[in-house]
Amino acid sequence: MAGPSSTHSGWWYDIPNSELEVIRRGTSEITITSSAVSPSTSDGAALGTASLMWSDLFMASGSVINFNASDVTITHASNALTIESGNLFVGNGFGVIVGSNTQLTTSVSDGASGTTPELQVLGTGSDDSSLMLGNFGTGGTPASLYFLRSRNTAIGSNTIVTDGTSLGSIVFAADDGNDYLTLGAMIRADVDGDPGENDMPGRLEFYTTADDAAAPTERWRISQVGNLTSLAADAANAANVDGGIIATGGIAFTDVANAWIDDASRGSGTVAHYIGNQAITTSSDMRLKTDIEDSMVNATDMLRKFRVVDYSWGENYSPHESYNARGRWMGMIAQEAIEVAPWIINAPGDSKDCWDCRAGLECEKHVNEDGTPQWWFVNYDYLVPTVVKGFQELDVRLREDELILGLAEEKIDALEEAYKILQGRIHELETT
Ligand SMILES: [Zn+2]
Repeated sequence: MAGPSSTHSGWWYDIPNSELEVIRRGTSEITITSSAVSPSTSDGAALGTASLMWSDLFMASGSVINFNASDVTITHASNALTIESGNLFVGNGFGVIVGSNTQLTTSVSDGASGTTPELQVLGTGSDDSSLMLGNFGTGGTPASLYFLRSRNTAIGSNTIVTDGTSLGSIVFAADDGNDYLTLGAMIRADVDGDPGENDMPGRLEFYTTADDAAAPTERWRISQVGNLTSLAADAANAANVDGGIIATGGIAFTDVANAWIDDASRGSGTVAHYIGNQAITTSSDMRLKTDIEDSMVNATDMLRKFRVVDYSWGENYSPHESYNARGRWMGMIAQEAIEVAPWIINAPGDSKDCWDCRAGLECEKHVNEDGTPQWWFVNYDYLVPTVVKGFQELDVRLREDELILGLAEEKIDALEEAYKILQGRIHELETT
């Protein structure tokens, strides 16, 4: 049977192929077979136009939308759509919001300026508001969350970042009752030094938000060499450790060799350290002292005035049990010794002028932050020069006594000699 003429428009039944065709001016546009309705040539007629659109499209359960002979398919299953054999791209400036048809705005790191992330997972429970990255396999690297930063404004192009460029941040935002711009904490990575090709020094910064603030402040930093630094304004609150601290590399309170506390010697000198107001390093360098003169103090008299006592430790001294296990102790009482040698007494603050502290009584003024009294201490090592001078005084007196004793012995010897002579004379007289 001949085909339709070039002027034919309408339905045409192709008997040999059992196809019903829609003809426009002699050209077949749509073909209907027993199993399909299709354009008569591949990539042919469209279904609807930009101005004439279909209202709805209904697909059967398990149906498949094929692109280019199954290059990419969208397949339906009960309550699920699956895209296979291809990527899903969402254009720049458009988002994917899971769990809601509203895209929410939060804040950049300043806690004020708004930002609207394009990929959001929103929900009312833990399950429907969580994001999981899973990796299943025996090798390779685990699942990761990546932050990439380039200074080029074209996606996929290259311009090197610079020292201080922020590489990415994890931000913890919260509802303050009004909006979602207020931040509670943040972890951020920055370039930490001059970068180059295959050379990217980086640091980690840890931020928390203070009371009455909307934006977090950097508190701790791990530098590109691994130094952990506190940026807390109040150094007293920089680190609170409930457990112990083990510093196998030593500890320094000032970054000079002479200030390190370590199990090996460092530096060539010593920086004074303190426990509270108690110096644990002393110096006898003459360059630290003025008005130096030989001591005029009678050390023997002074030592005689000290009262040395035997005692046991009281219960308000925490190691009293182990200390008392050593037996009775010998020492001096700070409140007594201060009358004899005030420089050997460490009386915190102005407590040496307090009559209650001086008398060893309860004092409301001179207490520590935890309520315990500010105890007085005797620095026994400061007493050593006094003991040395006392020894020297005793030595001088001993030498003087030895001299006197020597003269006395000489006189006794002379007297003994004279006595013998007299005895001889008497004996001569008695025998004549
Ligand atoms: Zn007091």
